[in-house]
Amino acid sequence: MKETELIQIALMLTPPWKVVECQFDVNQKRLDIQLDFARGSRFFCPSCGQADCAVHDTEQKSWRHLNFFQHETYMSARVPRIRCKKCGVRVVDVPWARAGSGFTLLFEAYIMLLAPSMPVNQIADLVSEHDTRLWRVLLHHVKEAREQADHSDVKQVGVDETSSKRGHNYVTIVVDLKESKSIFATEGKDSTTIGRFKDDLTAHKGKPESITDVSCDMSPAFIKGIKENLPNAQITFDKFHLLKTLNTTVDEV
Ligand SMILES: [Zn+2]
Repeated sequence: MKETELIQIALMLTPPWKVVECQFDVNQKRLDIQLDFARGSRFFCPSCGQADCAVHDTEQKSWRHLNFFQHETYMSARVPRIRCKKCGVRVVDVPWARAGSGFTLLFEAYIMLLAPSMPVNQIADLVSEHDTRLWRVLLHHVKEAREQADHSDVKQVGVDETSSKRGHNYVTIVVDLKESKSIFATEGKDSTTIGRFKDDLTAHKGKPESITDVSCDMSPAFIKGIKENLPNAQITFDKFHLLKTLNTTVDEV
């Protein structure tokens, strides 16, 4: 078996795409995989799904892929632009990357897998990429996941503030207590943060009236926001903040 065939199988490429060349540079520690499509191939229109569109011209593109062992791997291809009768000239979707990304989907999945476990600048060091490029990937997928989030079952939430940038900027976070999952974050720690949570909840199929319990600290701002926006919520002061206050008070006495 030729190395191009092996790589083609490993990439699970389907026609009309095929691997035409592999170049391995030991000194650069880099593998380059050149892909191409069969002459005369026709493609789907990425906008309307029309099949059998003829190729208008091509654009050369490349993508960072998962490492080949410890060696950085790049894929490149001339990506066809098709002419659709309805939509005009369009760049086709390739199966290994999303439109506009310089990474393959598998590389992006790897970044998403690492993200919950380490800071982005550490991931950037690990994969030798600039963290700005990785943030773009993370923001894209997080935004997409957030748009699809369904909060219709959210009933019990915890609200707390945390500070970022050395304690100067406050961020309020709302957690779904049943799922132990952060569902909303917004700047500030005043009563309007709860109003913004209400709007976001409504935008994700949730109902402010369905919230039966809110756990928070004794901040008058949160209490005011909850009373104004979550009409059926019973407020419970969480044990951590109660004990903290109790200890401070005992110390003072
Ligand atoms: Zn079309």
